Amino acid sequence: MLIVGSGPAGYTAAVYAARAGLAPVVLAGSISAGGALMTTTEVENFPGFVEGIQGPDLMESMRAQAERFGARIIVDDAVSLGLTGSLKTAVTGGGDTYQARAVILAMGSAYRKLHLPDEERLTGHGVSWCATCDGFFFRDQEIVVVGGGDSAMEEALFLTRFASKVTVVHRRSEFRASKIMAQRVLDHPKIDVAWNSEIAELIGEKLVRAVSLRDRQTGELRTIDVTGVFVAIGHDPRSELVMGTIDTDADGYVQVAHPSTRTNIAGVFAAGDLVDHTYRQAITAAGTGCAAAQDAQHFLSALD
Ligand code: FAD
Repeated sequence: MLIVGSGPAGYTAAVYAARAGLAPVVLAGSISAGGALMTTTEVENFPGFVEGIQGPDLMESMRAQAERFGARIIVDDAVSLGLTGSLKTAVTGGGDTYQARAVILAMGSAYRKLHLPDEERLTGHGVSWCATCDGFFFRDQEIVVVGGGDSAMEEALFLTRFASKVTVVHRRSEFRASKIMAQRVLDHPKIDVAWNSEIAELIGEKLVRAVSLRDRQTGELRTIDVTGVFVAIGHDPRSELVMGTIDTDADGYVQVAHPSTRTNIAGVFAAGDLVDHTYRQAITAAGTGCAAAQDAQHFLSALD
């Protein structure tokens, strides 16, 4: 069995597949093996870790657990996939070819970035892409949320539970979000909106302590003191390799026959954030990775 991707979905699928004796090969990716949690610090909501765990430590444990049962982890990218025949193939960037009768796609999704110079350095140190994950760290603090769609509205409203003040920074003069969500934000006593604005600079040495906002109409800059920057400008599933072969929705998310993880191609299964618009958590990705391994196992048993 082949698994493409090494986030919580891919590694969990590998643990289950390896324990089922399916000798999985995991194409882990060349620069981002371990997935999205490799870029974060404290993970406090993955069950089983009372004191929380660092993202990279969690992923290292998942990798070691999969290897313990015989999964082979290959630190390379799948650059092309042949999925339609009964024998599936993957060619890697290093020029190797792997073949299997079942494939699990678990390439995750990428959060859209602001493309600011200090964004990467301050990720996990005040810059976040996930209110559910990190909101708790910002109790009684002032923060900004960047975006104008429904997810930005949801993040902003959710964050009012923790933050003392939330400023929504939006590039335009009205929100793209649904009227009802936008109105909730506009009516909320803890939320301010910086219209026609964008972040010009993230300010802080080890942690974010302020942002410089640029007014897009006048070019004027102003600094506001905040400790958190939640970026909610969307995310893109990493489905480019399978576009045109595997059914995706309008946003590029791989479609599966819920509640199973079956795609439109026999023997190809998909899990994690590659499929999931809604929850996008490590535990939900791990859950669907487990389901994909079991679906693939049943598929292979039926072939024998
Ligand atoms: P990912 O973790 O994104 O993994 C995808 C994998 O696919 C990567 O290893 C990548 O290298 C690989 N890949 C992609 N394309 C290819 C290819 N062509 N060939 C080979 N490999 C490929 N969730 C929580 O539950 N709690 C948190 O505290 C939390 N904090 C977060 C903090 C940050 C900064 C971010 C970005 C996310 C956070 N999340 C958190 C969300 C969580 O990380 C994701 O929901 C989860 O990682 C999704 O798992 P996944 O396996 O679907 O995909």
